Amino acid sequence: MDKKVAALIDKYGVTERTLTFLRAPMRQYINGQFVVAAESMQVLEPSTGALLAEVPSASTEDVEAAVKAARYAFDEGEWSRWKPAQRERVLHRLADLVEENLQTLAEIESLDAGKAIEGCKAVDIAGSIDLLRYMAGWATKIDGATRPVSVEGEHFAYTLKEPVGVVAAIVPWNWPFNMAIWKLAAPLAVGCTVVLKPAQQTPLSMLFFAELCAEAGLPPGVLNIVSGRGRTIGNDLVSHPTINKVSFTGSTEVGITVGKAAIENINHLTLELGGKSPMLVFEDADIQKVVDATQQSIYFNTGQVCSGGSRLYIHRSIYDQTIAAIAERASNMVVGDTLNPETEMGPAISAGQKQTVMDYIGIGLAEGARLVCGGKDPGGEGYWLQPTLFADCDNSMRIVQEEIFGPVLVAIPFDTEEEVLALANDNIYGLAASIFTRDLSRALRLIPKIESGTVWVNTHDMIDANTPFGGVKQSGIGKDMGPEQLEYFLETKAVWIAL
Ligand code: NAD
Repeated sequence: MDKKVAALIDKYGVTERTLTFLRAPMRQYINGQFVVAAESMQVLEPSTGALLAEVPSASTEDVEAAVKAARYAFDEGEWSRWKPAQRERVLHRLADLVEENLQTLAEIESLDAGKAIEGCKAVDIAGSIDLLRYMAGWATKIDGATRPVSVEGEHFAYTLKEPVGVVAAIVPWNWPFNMAIWKLAAPLAVGCTVVLKPAQQTPLSMLFFAELCAEAGLPPGVLNIVSGRGRTIGNDLVSHPTINKVSFTGSTEVGITVGKAAIENINHLTLELGGKSPMLVFEDADIQKVVDATQQSIYFNTGQVCSGGSRLYIHRSIYDQTIAAIAERASNMVVGDTLNPETEMGPAISAGQKQTVMDYIGIGLAEGARLVCGGKDPGGEGYWLQPTLFADCDNSMRIVQEEIFGPVLVAIPFDTEEEVLALANDNIYGLAASIFTRDLSRALRLIPKIESGTVWVNTHDMIDANTPFGGVKQSGIGKDMGPEQLEYFLETKAVWIAL
């Protein structure tokens, strides 16, 4: 660990367990064993750009061993023979351990992913605990159906729900722990086994979670965690011939490659991909709710939020005052050290991501958008950005059409409901959208016409373990969370018995 990172830790203090974890050699988790890799890679702390940890860079052989362990645990191991209630108990134990280690996990995540710690605790870690418990409860409730049939003769027909098998799970760096739990809780609950690869920038919280899995008594091979690069071992994993399902969260570009690999082996596939989510603000909207929604989406997590409300359509009659209110709040956000409980926004994840965002700001200026606030490079060590708002944009601008994945909001005025609906749907993505109005009839009229996986009314970016999340169009295929997610890890077998 670089001395700049050590100084940060000294300044704010962390738990003994965080220190112990960060000081020990980092290891992958394969077949219930903590294993080192022949090669390593560096993980940087985003607010300083300095070395946080050296982590294993998995080899093809490591992936092979992890898939073999998961295959054995599914085909021959304890997991597949356990009663559903036993799986439920272990998942609850795991949730309890995550809760006991909430502070440690948030500290690790905050240092690794540049996340403001209070938001990380409340959203990333607490949300993950809820989802683990929610899915634990489903372990005992997976059932098929009896089917009356009309063919000649006497038959008893029914359906059996069976776990699909070995799941290859790939997650991005923007919610490293939370996205990983989204990927593993449902398949483990229904009896699948999993090999999970965190993003190369942010593997630490999952490497720590492996310790909790061992403590919880998860049998060997049921969950395997390999850390390494996407294009090499990520690809090895999703194209492995003996897995049964690919569950991927990340960019649309990589999702297409991953999807092709899955289909080569006729494997099950879930893709949770990018977004450019619209917020439709009507003349009767509560402007404070709009401001709050920008805080909980596009300016939360430094705008590295797949469903962040990044396109803002405001009725012309309240355009200027809404822009002013958002700019006032955004300009006063507390941007700073991620371990500081006062901090609202940390840095971008990497130098590359910061550069991408700065490039888009340059594109926005060149396209003629009006910069209302932010947009400057704050400089300094680390990958800092400013909460940024562009007004007077046009729907054809690249900053309006493309996913920037940073704290950059673009605003456009509109006059009619038909006009704003067309503008909102004029995008390749369809992850989420929100409508701000006091007119319930208008909201109910618009909800079915909006092309997105989620629609919020008078809020944005609310999620819960019991509601499905996933996009349409180029935002993906399938759902995470809610009872809907379980189906994506189950096969339905039809059974006929001639009586
Ligand atoms: P990314 O697509 O670059 O990487 C995602 C993961 O894929 C990483 O673990 C990476 O190592 C791996 N990977 C890269 N190439 C691979 C390959 N050829 N085969 C297998 N794995 C490979 O995405 P990112 O930059 O980490 O994350 C940001 C993106 O994720 C944004 O587009 C964001 O919208 C999206 N995202 C979507 C959701 C959702 O639920 N829809 C949630 C979070 C993030």
